[in-house]
Amino acid sequence: MTRKEVILVVEDEASMLAGLEYALTKEGYDVRSATDGDAALASVAKAPPDLILLDVMLPKRSGFEVLKRLRDGGRDLPVILLTAKGQELDKVHGLDLGADDYVTKPFSLAELLARIRARLRGRADDAPEEFDLGAARVDLRRMSVERGGASHELSLREVDMLKLLWRERGKPVSRERFLTEVWGHERFPTTRTVDQHMVKLRQKVEQDPAQPRHLLTAFGVGYRLEL
Ligand code: CA
Repeated sequence: MTRKEVILVVEDEASMLAGLEYALTKEGYDVRSATDGDAALASVAKAPPDLILLDVMLPKRSGFEVLKRLRDGGRDLPVILLTAKGQELDKVHGLDLGADDYVTKPFSLAELLARIRARLRGRADDAPEEFDLGAARVDLRRMSVERGGASHELSLREVDMLKLLWRERGKPVSRERFLTEVWGHERFPTTRTVDQHMVKLRQKVEQDPAQPRHLLTAFGVGYRLEL
């Protein structure tokens, strides 16, 4: 049996905290809690969780400050922000500070659980730092593709697209899923954005971008990676 995944819930409203603890425990997670920003940082320092649900409005130290401290300290564990309705600027600021995702209160439990699963899955089956796609050598850490003696740089988005495709290798990945998992909550991406990035990615990876052998089109759905 695998270890239970640990979620740290940082929330000062007692009823919200109790509800989240109940629901997440029932879902099979090992739930820890903190009711202010200092306690959250102390908890992470003591034993880093697999994921943090972080309320923005907290006593002592705001969720933003906690997030900034974590990222400044080199902690890259996934953070999902809990933001209040109507505070659009909070979301943008939070994502700029390095949050992985957010949910807006009041949120549905199903939505929250889906976002948690997506973030945890992203860690559980990470792509290797380097792998071959035909004659192309992909290096995700150095963000480059070497092919036929030439080197092409990869953008952050392209790296994230490759990571997602690798996790789902052999299976179609929908454009919508790319938007959710790679673009997150950026302001105006459309499914066209995914296609435009795929064109560039194929130019770097494929011998003949017009006849791709690894970054394949899944008709009517999105894309599929064949190793
Ligand atoms: Ca609060």
